[in-house]
Amino acid sequence: MADSVRPTVLTPYSVGDRITLKKAHACGGLEWEVYRIGADLGLLCLVCGRRIMLSRRNVARRIRKRVETPDVK
Ligand SMILES: [Zn+2]
Repeated sequence: MADSVRPTVLTPYSVGDRITLKKAHACGGLEWEVYRIGADLGLLCLVCGRRIMLSRRNVARRIRKRVETPDVK
Protein backbone atom coordinates (compact mmCIF):
# COMPACT_ATOMS: atom_id res chain seq x y z
CA MET A 1 0.00 0.00 0.00
CA ALA A 2 2.80 2.39 0.87
CA ASP A 3 4.07 3.71 -2.42
CA SER A 4 7.43 4.55 -0.89
CA VAL A 5 8.27 0.88 -0.48
CA ARG A 6 8.39 0.05 -4.13
CA PRO A 7 10.10 -3.22 -5.00
CA THR A 8 12.99 -2.91 -7.43
CA VAL A 9 15.41 -5.16 -9.23
CA LEU A 10 17.49 -5.07 -6.08
CA THR A 11 14.73 -6.21 -3.79
CA PRO A 12 15.97 -9.36 -2.12
CA TYR A 13 13.67 -12.33 -2.23
CA SER A 14 13.80 -15.56 -0.36
CA VAL A 15 12.08 -18.85 -0.89
CA GLY A 16 8.60 -18.75 0.56
CA ASP A 17 8.02 -15.05 -0.08
CA ARG A 18 4.61 -14.25 -1.44
CA ILE A 19 4.18 -11.58 -4.06
CA THR A 20 1.28 -10.08 -5.95
CA LEU A 21 1.66 -9.26 -9.61
CA LYS A 22 -0.15 -6.52 -11.50
CA LYS A 23 -1.27 -8.83 -14.24
CA ALA A 24 -3.38 -11.86 -13.48
CA HIS A 25 -2.21 -15.31 -14.49
CA ALA A 26 -4.20 -17.19 -17.12
CA CYS A 27 -6.12 -18.81 -14.27
CA GLY A 28 -7.01 -15.43 -12.77
CA GLY A 29 -4.59 -15.74 -9.87
CA LEU A 30 -2.57 -12.77 -8.71
CA GLU A 31 -0.64 -14.29 -5.84
CA TRP A 32 2.59 -16.17 -6.29
CA GLU A 33 5.06 -17.85 -4.00
CA VAL A 34 8.77 -17.72 -4.65
CA TYR A 35 10.06 -21.28 -4.80
CA ARG A 36 13.44 -20.83 -6.45
CA ILE A 37 16.08 -18.14 -6.24
CA GLY A 38 18.68 -17.47 -8.90
CA ALA A 39 19.31 -15.20 -11.84
CA ASP A 40 15.65 -15.85 -12.50
CA LEU A 41 13.00 -16.23 -9.85
CA GLY A 42 10.83 -19.32 -9.81
CA LEU A 43 7.25 -18.43 -9.04
CA LEU A 44 4.49 -20.81 -8.06
CA CYS A 45 0.94 -19.70 -8.79
CA LEU A 46 -1.03 -20.09 -5.59
CA VAL A 47 -4.28 -20.62 -7.48
CA CYS A 48 -3.48 -23.24 -10.12
CA GLY A 49 -0.07 -24.44 -8.94
CA ARG A 50 1.64 -23.66 -12.24
CA ARG A 51 5.32 -22.79 -12.02
CA ILE A 52 6.98 -20.09 -14.09
CA MET A 53 10.39 -18.49 -14.26
CA LEU A 54 10.70 -14.73 -14.37
CA SER A 55 13.85 -12.66 -14.54
CA ARG A 56 14.32 -10.29 -11.62
CA ARG A 57 13.88 -7.39 -13.99
CA ASN A 58 10.52 -8.73 -15.11
CA VAL A 59 9.45 -9.37 -11.56
CA ALA A 60 10.36 -5.80 -10.61
CA ARG A 61 8.32 -4.50 -13.51
CA ARG A 62 5.28 -6.66 -12.89
CA ILE A 63 5.12 -6.84 -9.15
CA ARG A 64 2.43 -4.98 -7.30
CA LYS A 65 3.52 -5.77 -3.81
CA ARG A 66 5.45 -8.18 -1.74
CA VAL A 67 3.39 -9.88 0.89
CA GLU A 68 5.32 -10.19 4.08
CA THR A 69 5.46 -13.77 5.14
CA PRO A 70 4.79 -14.00 8.86
CA ASP A 71 7.64 -15.72 10.62
CA VAL A 72 6.23 -18.73 12.36
CA LYS A 73 8.43 -19.71 15.23
ZN1 LIG B 1 -2.35 -19.68 -12.12
